[in-house]
Amino acid sequence: MNAITSNFAGQKNNNQNYKYYMPTMVIFGKNCVKENSQLFTTLGKKALIVTGTQSAKRNGSEKDVRTALETAGISYLVYDKVIANPTIACVYEGAKIAKANEVDFIIAIGGGSPMDAGKAIALLAAQDITEENLFSGPYAERVLPLAMIPTTAGTGSEVTQYSVLTNEKSQTKTSISSDLLFPRIAFLDAKYTVNLPAVITINTALDALSHAIESMLSIRASYLSNILAADSIRILMDCIPDVLEAQKSEEGFHLAFETREQLLLASTLAGIVIAQTGTTIVHSMGYSLTYFKNIDHGRANALLLGEYLRLVNEVQPNLTARILNAMNLSGLEAFATLIDSLLGNREKLSPAEITQFSKIAVKAKNITNCIVQPNEEDIRRIYANSLLK
Ligand code: NAP
Ligand code: FE
Repeated sequence: MNAITSNFAGQKNNNQNYKYYMPTMVIFGKNCVKENSQLFTTLGKKALIVTGTQSAKRNGSEKDVRTALETAGISYLVYDKVIANPTIACVYEGAKIAKANEVDFIIAIGGGSPMDAGKAIALLAAQDITEENLFSGPYAERVLPLAMIPTTAGTGSEVTQYSVLTNEKSQTKTSISSDLLFPRIAFLDAKYTVNLPAVITINTALDALSHAIESMLSIRASYLSNILAADSIRILMDCIPDVLEAQKSEEGFHLAFETREQLLLASTLAGIVIAQTGTTIVHSMGYSLTYFKNIDHGRANALLLGEYLRLVNEVQPNLTARILNAMNLSGLEAFATLIDSLLGNREKLSPAEITQFSKIAVKAKNITNCIVQPNEEDIRRIYANSLLK
């Protein structure tokens, strides 16, 4: 029996009627932006480049995009004001600039934050949507074409239909979810990720791991999504020893280029998978950790994942067995030890914070996306066992 077959023995209780849709052209490899500059001409004649404040200038990605656009004879302007966990105000501002300058398409460069901002900007530049309707729609069938260049390896936003924004009114993060937001093209070049510091490398890799694992716990998991998820998990597991080794090195954090490529590939695979399945309560619970405690998104998920798996294991041990099998781990204790070795010391929450965050998470839409649906008491227990002072 090969690895894939054995991982999915018992698969039949999963969804038999499913949709698999991933319309993004994925281009992978060193220098792929410059070598495929003509592809930008398929998106339009004038671009808005959306980035964060610094990293795209430092890692060479913005320069490569500028060169590619100049080679292809495309004019452009740059909006480089996207901060981590982008706000609603930021995407309306970006859209205003896109409209005022009549750009034809958006190129987002960066981690999940600029990519998600770029998607919302593309939507808002093509149609008028009030803030009240931003997350709910309805949306007209209009959006500016999108190209994405990830410079972290974690969110997979370059291949998803989600744009996750900080939502002050709901005191959490909320997603716009629409097939309109699938990028037309994703350029994956790991050279932009070579200088990612240890903390961002680990937190984003944990986001990808979370996506792959959560997808297998989603009611929308399918044969196809499980194959991709398990492969993403396997690739990430292959990279983790190198990451832990590099973290200990006295010469600074350095990963082989091949490892960087593997992390990027695993992250995109996990993105393709959550585009099909969505995420689970782990992401919803993590949003409070980011919103109120400023904990990085990937780390927030990883802090909670082990305890959610314990709950799943109480109800559906076959599901956890499948995940542990893909990870080549002996059990949930081994899972916890592995995650702790990557996370280091855990943040702490007070009982009052746990109550507050549990009340928010229990209202999250994606509870119904979980095969094992937690109630408020379960959520409280997950927070407490993961983070209680
Ligand atoms: P991020 O918020 O995009 O970026 C975090 C930090 O990393 C920023 O300070 C950024 O600097 C820096 N950075 C980015 N690339 C770098 C590089 N190559 N070298 C050095 N520093 C670099 O982090 P992220 O974890 O990738 O994205 C998190 C966001 O994605 C969250 O808002 C989360 O909700 C969202 N998300 C979306 C999806 C989806 O499907 N759409 C899925 C999961 C998560 P600069 O600001 O200077 O660029
Ligand atoms: Fe995520």
